[in-house]
Parts: sequence; C-alpha cells; structure tokens
Amino acid sequence: MENRKSTAAFSEACRYMPGGVNSPVRAFGGVDVKPLFIAGAKDSKIFDVDGNEYIDYVGSWGPMILGHAHPAVLAAIHRAADKGASFGAPTPAETELAARIVGAFRSIEKLRLLCSGTEAVMTAIRLARAYTGRDGIIKMAGCYHGHSDSLLVKAGSGVAESEDAAAPIGPINRAAAASHDASRGIPSSPGVPDALARLTVVVPYNDAGALQEALEKHSGQIAAVLAEPVAANMGVVPPDPGYLQSLRRLCDEHGTLLILDEVITGFRVAFGGAQERYGVTADLTCLGKIVGGGLPLAVCGGRAEIMDLLAPLGRVYQAGTLSGNPIATAAAIATLDILAEGRAYRELESSAANLEADLAQAAADAGVPITINRVGSIMSCFFTDRSVRNFEDVRATDIAAFKKFFAEMLQRGIYLAPSAYEAMFLSLAHTKQDIERTVEAAHESFRVVAGR
Ligand code: PLP
Repeated sequence: MENRKSTAAFSEACRYMPGGVNSPVRAFGGVDVKPLFIAGAKDSKIFDVDGNEYIDYVGSWGPMILGHAHPAVLAAIHRAADKGASFGAPTPAETELAARIVGAFRSIEKLRLLCSGTEAVMTAIRLARAYTGRDGIIKMAGCYHGHSDSLLVKAGSGVAESEDAAAPIGPINRAAAASHDASRGIPSSPGVPDALARLTVVVPYNDAGALQEALEKHSGQIAAVLAEPVAANMGVVPPDPGYLQSLRRLCDEHGTLLILDEVITGFRVAFGGAQERYGVTADLTCLGKIVGGGLPLAVCGGRAEIMDLLAPLGRVYQAGTLSGNPIATAAAIATLDILAEGRAYRELESSAANLEADLAQAAADAGVPITINRVGSIMSCFFTDRSVRNFEDVRATDIAAFKKFFAEMLQRGIYLAPSAYEAMFLSLAHTKQDIERTVEAAHESFRVVAGR
C-alpha cells in the first residue's frame, strides 16, 4: 500500500504536536510501522489520506459499535448541532439519556455525565474516598483506567519506600513499609507524585487471593477496589468464573466500594455491560466510549446515596463546562436506542464467534501457536500456546510475532489495533464478506509470521 501522504502528514504533525498525535497509541509506537492519517470512515471501513481502504477493527478504540457514520447517529448529531453546540445549562435530553442508562444498568440509580473515561474514573474514586473516609484504592495490574495521577501507577518495586516516614497507607515505619513493598503503587509516569501513587495498591488480575491479602494488609484503609470487569487494555482477558463475585464479596467484607470500569465493556459485552453478562453489581460504574456514540461523553453512576454526595447536592466537587454536551447527548441517545433493540448483541456474538473460529484455524494451518481470548465482540489474538489470564501472561507472549502479523494484515487492508496490548473491536457494520476478507488476509499473514 502507498502511504506517502500519511508519512508526510505525520512529519508535519510532529512539528506542532508532541509525537505528532493527541493520544500516544496513535503514533503506532507499539509496532514498526508509521501511523496512518485518516481521511474518513464509513460502516466497517476506514480510509487513509492516501486513498487506501481498510476493514477497521479499532473502531476508535471501542465506541463505534454501530460502525462509522451510522445514518441515525449522524442525523441526531445534525439535528442537535442545528440548535447550537453548547449552552452550559441543563437540557431535557440529558435526563432522557440518564433515564436510558439507569434502565440499562441495575446498579446505577443516579449518574453524572462527563466528557471522558478518565474523568469518570477520577470522579468515582473521589466519591469512594468521600463516602468511606478512606484514601487507599486497589487496582489490577494491566487494567487501564485513564491517565489520572492515582491510576498511572504500577506495582511497587520497594525502592521508593525506603526514606518515606509519611507514606500514606497504614501506620508506617520502616518494617511495615518493607512488608508492603510489593503491592504499593509507584508512578508509571514522571509527574505523578510518589505520595499519591502509594495510595494505590496494585494486585494481579484474576487473583482473588492476592486481593484478599491486600485488603487484609491495608485493613480499614481501602476506599475502593477498581477493576475492568473484562480486562481489555492488555488485550482481552476475561474474568475467571467467579472472580467478579469474589471482588463483590471481598469488598463487602472490608467495607470497600467496588468500582467497575465499564468504559469498554458497557453496552459492549451486553446492553447492561459486564454486570449484566456476569451477574455482578458494582457500587459505582464508569462508562465511556459506546455511551457517547463516538462523541466525547462518559458517565459515573451508582447508588443514589453515594452519587448524592456530588455537588451541588453534596460537598464532593466535580464540574465540567461541556458535560452533557447536547451534540454528544444526541449521539448517545441515538446509539443506545439502536443497541436496545436486542438483536444487536446476537448479531455481534455470531460474527465475532465466526471470526474467532476462522482465525484460530488460519493460525493452526500456518502452524503458528495462538490463544484467542474473546468476550462477545471484543477479542485478542495472543501469540502463545498458553492460556492468558493476567498481565504477566500477556507480557510473556511473542510481541515480535504480533508486530509482524500487524504489519502484514495492514498491508492486506486489515486495520488492527497497533499494539499487542489492545483489543479487536467488531461492529454491527462488519459483514460476512468483511470477515471472509479478514480471514483470507490472516491465512497469508500467519504464514509470513511462521516464516513460510
Ligand atoms: N477506562 C478504560 C477501561 C479505558 O479503556 C479507557 C480508555 O481507553 C479509559 C478508562 C479512559 O477513557 P478516556 O480515554 O475517554 O479518558
């Protein structure tokens, strides 16, 4: 494929924006390929500035479950835009949208509309801290919850603990600190204060025992356990049977809130998200991506007694100039109305299951060991013959093989997420022919990976 214009656009962008992009993963740093610059998209296809067409399995990283430029969503956007872009005052459409979301999620009695998933999780954490009067939070390694300071952390190495007499979780002395080393968060980005990172404890995903241990170790100090119910930011890693129920039980036992970050899974793995699919109930739920129909809109919602702590009713402060933006709200309502029809999830399940089976066959034919993890219409193809249950497992997969596969697929017009740590997203716009073309490309690409 000719990529001259994309390459030139990237060079020009780099003059004005760090790395030439407005979100790091778009720079294709996880693969050995220059990023594509996009001219437009329609249904399952995305078009670059060189005029190449790709079958798109990124879907704007999840939101485009209906496919690109869906006529009903575009019409709703146009109608709303005609009335003005933003008022900074409430509109009836916000209530209409809120009612739909409350109808979809049993655990959400009240909610706040915001602009990004990052904001939704920040708000949930602030609410949990205010509600419980505790500062600590527990997150799972490999789960991503946006770029707020408290969550840009990784499991502690212990090094940072040594001199800090005021480390915030628990009554700290050197001995106690040493015993906490492995679980305390340390910043994974410069600019995140150590003091804040240490409020976050990191435990492995799919390990209820590790969570129990952390809750016991930091007893009475953890405001919330935060998890992606299906991890989808280290590739797709489904919860083991009973894992989410264990999270619920352990939170109840320790007076800790359960925050489920359904920014990817909400309206994706079922209309009512992972909570509907797996029969688990969060205290607070974060939504983003699909709920905004492709526009900047996100949700923090949950039990009314917790949500009512938010200003102006309560004293927990949160605000947003563009929160509940009328154009985003209109796109959201139009999207949810189509998904609510029900057939959507059956169709997604069926095309995703076909793609999974055919990809597995293509890899087997080429003699390439892979493990496919799939939940509904999100899936990942890991280059390993082992099962993949947590971040360590993902890190042990053959990333070089993924990069090769990615580049080969792209050459054949298949646009996968440019990172071994991201999911494939199917949409209702992916046709049987799209799947067939994808599998054909995969047959050839796996053979190249195998060196044949
Ligand atoms: N939570 C999850 C599970 C996500 O996947 C993301 C983004 O990918 C976020 C939160 C952050 O959302 P946003 O990028 O809208 O800030």
